[in-house]
Amino acid sequence: MSFSEEKQLDERDGRYLRKAIVWSHAARRRGNRPFGAVIVSESGEILAEAYCNSGETGDCTGHAEINAVRMLGARQIPRDELARATLYSSAEPCVMCAGAIFWSAIGRVVYGVDAPRLRVFRGDHADQRDAQLSCREVFGASPHAIECIGPALVDEALAAHIGAWKE
Ligand SMILES: [Zn+2]
Repeated sequence: MSFSEEKQLDERDGRYLRKAIVWSHAARRRGNRPFGAVIVSESGEILAEAYCNSGETGDCTGHAEINAVRMLGARQIPRDELARATLYSSAEPCVMCAGAIFWSAIGRVVYGVDAPRLRVFRGDHADQRDAQLSCREVFGASPHAIECIGPALVDEALAAHIGAWKE
């Protein structure tokens, strides 16, 4: 099996993706799947930071990207500003989170480890498998443009997953 080539990031994207990866470690320490997400405005303001909290809450929709997108609701950010914002995720957004990103109007996504590489860690347990529809397929169906960059910083993004899933 061959994996898609890793993308090189500039200093700014690398810095914020690493922030999302830090949240993925925080998630795991608190008994959740190791995923983190950060939303950053065009001017560099951090609009939201979140981690997957499904393990703590029992809410299967508590993915990092969903939790981050939900935080935007209280801030009343104009749609054109969100179109220029970037969501950084420690891993490729799943189909549910890709849908949430679409509804948020965020125009740019940068992610760490991609879904095919992550499946090696997820194993075959029913509760660990993901739906095999890529975020690019979801974004490609959007009437507004959603730029998508990844996989990137794969080794750093994968570190939190080592030993985190059942064999
Ligand atoms: Zn998700």
